[in-house]
Amino acid sequence: MRADVVIVGGGIVGFATALQLRLTSPGTDVVLIEKDPTYERAATGKGTGGIRQLFTRSENIALSQYTLEVVDDWAEWAKVPDKSTPDLNWRSNGYLFIAGQNDVEQLRANYETQLAGGVKAEWLEPGALAQRYPEIRTEDLRGAVLSPRDGWLNPKAFFQGVQDRALHEGVTVIYDEVGEFTTAGNQVTGVTLRSGGSIEADFVVNAAGTWAPELASQLGMDIPVEPMRRHEHYVVASKPLDHLPFIKDVAGLAIHAHLGGLSVGLVDFNHPGGEDFTTDNEYYSRVVKPALAHRLQGATNFEEQRTWTGLYDQNRFDGNAIVGNWAGHYENFYVAVGFSGHGFMHALGVGRGLAEHITTGSYKTIDLTPFGYQRIAEGRPYAELGIR
Ligand SMILES: Cc1cc2nc3c(=O)[nH]c(=O)nc-3n(C[C@H](O)[C@H](O)[C@H](O)COP(=O)(O)OP(=O)(O)OC[C@H]3O[C@@H](n4cnc5c(N)ncnc54)[C@H](O)[C@@H]3O)c2cc1C
Repeated sequence: MRADVVIVGGGIVGFATALQLRLTSPGTDVVLIEKDPTYERAATGKGTGGIRQLFTRSENIALSQYTLEVVDDWAEWAKVPDKSTPDLNWRSNGYLFIAGQNDVEQLRANYETQLAGGVKAEWLEPGALAQRYPEIRTEDLRGAVLSPRDGWLNPKAFFQGVQDRALHEGVTVIYDEVGEFTTAGNQVTGVTLRSGGSIEADFVVNAAGTWAPELASQLGMDIPVEPMRRHEHYVVASKPLDHLPFIKDVAGLAIHAHLGGLSVGLVDFNHPGGEDFTTDNEYYSRVVKPALAHRLQGATNFEEQRTWTGLYDQNRFDGNAIVGNWAGHYENFYVAVGFSGHGFMHALGVGRGLAEHITTGSYKTIDLTPFGYQRIAEGRPYAELGIR
């Protein structure tokens, strides 16, 4: 079998890239290979669907803005004959970043960057914040940034819509596991499949999430990304807080309304890396609940109903995605990995960028060059500032 482009991994990033290739260049044969159609371990099946413009790198801001345009146009964008369009359950309550004394200066600088990036954000002093959202405890806060256009959606519905459209546009999907890359000189010539057989390709994209580094290591490419355990807790409180924005304390706590209760996360960035799907049953009561009860004074009894565990593909070098081809080594080998918790909201834009680069040799819409592997090879971090 042969294809113009083989994509390894059928999570949101793989499917978005496949779809964008067909949209950018409809004659391109795109074959996507996914090893697990249940997505039991994939990050895409575990995410919470937050979409925010509150980043500090212009590319990340622009990537989120593109996804928000798609969300606004969803009924048209996701329309596929003979399929009902999945309901995103889009909650455009906004995103609110809050900071105490130690982080307020950085938050203010980030706010200026966001305004320059076209984000219609508002700066809120603690008094104004307390007036707007009396349920949030503000005594220990020194400032906040609200981005009213942002929000969250049902990630399964969004993923379904992207998959449906990709299939409709002519992407071929094979459920199998990629074993190895085949090479000749400085070209990757295709992949082998665990079930036997192989596929030749002009381009290969490694979008295998937390499994991508191990695959790339076959070629000698060292990707500083590792799986990092991440709990999310569904909590019921004494009363619904549905009107609140998606609150992110820059120190880590994240809270948003979900199913009449709250969905809450507090990432432990120090948890050792590895494919660890265990759940620390004490983590909520020990770490998260006290932080939640402190921050929200508008409700009590934050009862944990369910905790689930997913993996971030955490870029330990600088926390940002690694996107593009491996220039100077295998020029036709592309990676899209290391999203570190932002991959869902950036997949469509990254997929579009890769499609442009593969079909024309350069980025046309958002210049993703700063996310290239080159920065890793040269030891030049390109981190978000004060926000993870
Ligand atoms: C709890 C949690 C909350 C999150 N919340 C958000 C959020 O609010 N907003 C946001 O933007 N992001 C969020 N994220 C991050 C987001 O979910 C990920 O960045 C994104 O889903 C990554 O998609 P992916 O396609 O790169 O990886 P995955 O979804 O992991 O997909 C990779 C796929 O590759 C397949 N694969 C691996 N190896 C092979 C092989 N050899 N052959 C064939 N197939 C292979 C795997 O089976 C898998 O399906 C969250 C993540 C978690 C865990």
